[in-house]
Amino acid sequence: MGHPRTALVIHGGAGRYKSGMTPEKERAFHAALNEALLQGHQVLRLGGSALDAVERAVNSLEDCPLFNAGRGSVFTHNGKIEMDAAIMDGKNLCAGSVAFVTSIKNPITAARAVMERTEHVMLVGPGAEEFARDAGVTIVDPSYFFTEARWESWQKIKNQEHTELNLGTVGAVALDQHGNLAAATSTGGMNNKKFGRIGDSGIVGAGVYANNRTCAISSTGHGEYFMRLCSAYDISALMEYRGLSLEEAAQEAINRKMHDLGGTGGIIGVDRVGNVTMDFNTDTMFRGYVKTDGVTWTGVGDDVTHKEFRT
Ligand code: ASP
Repeated sequence: MGHPRTALVIHGGAGRYKSGMTPEKERAFHAALNEALLQGHQVLRLGGSALDAVERAVNSLEDCPLFNAGRGSVFTHNGKIEMDAAIMDGKNLCAGSVAFVTSIKNPITAARAVMERTEHVMLVGPGAEEFARDAGVTIVDPSYFFTEARWESWQKIKNQEHTELNLGTVGAVALDQHGNLAAATSTGGMNNKKFGRIGDSGIVGAGVYANNRTCAISSTGHGEYFMRLCSAYDISALMEYRGLSLEEAAQEAINRKMHDLGGTGGIIGVDRVGNVTMDFNTDTMFRGYVKTDGVTWTGVGDDVTHKEFRT
């Protein structure tokens, strides 16, 4: 018997590859993705759980101002920050989520606390914040989430009624040495979204899903489409009911169903034997993975030869 297989896949959002992207910025994104992979892999390498690994990787990205989750979240139509996050354990189908939260430093940690310390799956708004504070999850002043870059993106669109998909939502999926799968997604949502709008990232089955029998999935993109298609669960169901591989199921969900409905976005996934997928129908999806050998791979561009590297 060889060493038990592990795999960790992360994303840092899907969307338009901005012309304003500079080589320095690209390097910063690669470095941040790489750091999240190393932190999550460290958990898996030491025999830790997939759940711990995805939480650790997502925490790392939430703390980085480059991403639209935690620290670098986008602004709502009325100039506030409202975040959603969800986590799921494939071993027992336990799940936790928080949505419409404004002061929780790491929403994914609060989502996990909901899963482990309440009889509920989802808490929103002030109730979620009060619970998180009581559970010892770090609370910060909303000014912590302010970044110049997101403020500027909002200035360009704030007088319009529509939302904009900004690259930067984060997610992670993992397979641990014990054969357990887990998934986590965290976001500030869509730029200029309406006050009180909740997206797919906080919705189990849309933005996140994990089942040891099939796969673990984290979504990113135009959330309303992922909610209407129940995309994360759909990929698992396509594997379970139609016997598709992870790759085939992801193709069907993103490149056919999502495409036909006019939605944009991507998913990352890992199956129970450690196959991974990173599929998107946008210009790009920031992404990366690391398997048992510990060799990390990160990508910010749209194909394998362009703007990607292994370390
Ligand atoms: N899916 C997220 C939402 O709709 C946004 C994103 O992934 O960028 O809130």
